[in-house]
Amino acid sequence: MSWELIIKQKFSAAHFLEHYHGKCEKMHGHTFEIEVGFRTSELEKSGISIDFGEIKEYLRQLVPDHKVLNEVFSFSPSAENLARYFFEQCKKKYPVSKVMVWESEDAGAAYAEDQ
Ligand SMILES: [Zn+2]
Repeated sequence: MSWELIIKQKFSAAHFLEHYHGKCEKMHGHTFEIEVGFRTSELEKSGISIDFGEIKEYLRQLVPDHKVLNEVFSFSPSAENLARYFFEQCKKKYPVSKVMVWESEDAGAAYAEDQ
């Protein structure tokens, strides 16, 4: 018996991709959306596992809103690398199962650890 909680958080940021030739090599912005899955197999008496409000607050503080991602991170801020970064951060505190980073409504990258 297990559940997966899904929490979404949006943020706006600019980035460009290094070592890449194409549309994303020049600085541009996105409204990113991260989607974090948390796996749990136990519920409290109240019927909930992890408080949505607590996770939302954690994610709200985690996302680099209105920043230039290339200045914030030492890695190339692609959706793939961002998904891995957010996964590792969330894992420090919660039983995270996967992180999805959407760059637009129809394109994004998911990261999960190999089982
Ligand atoms: Zn981009």
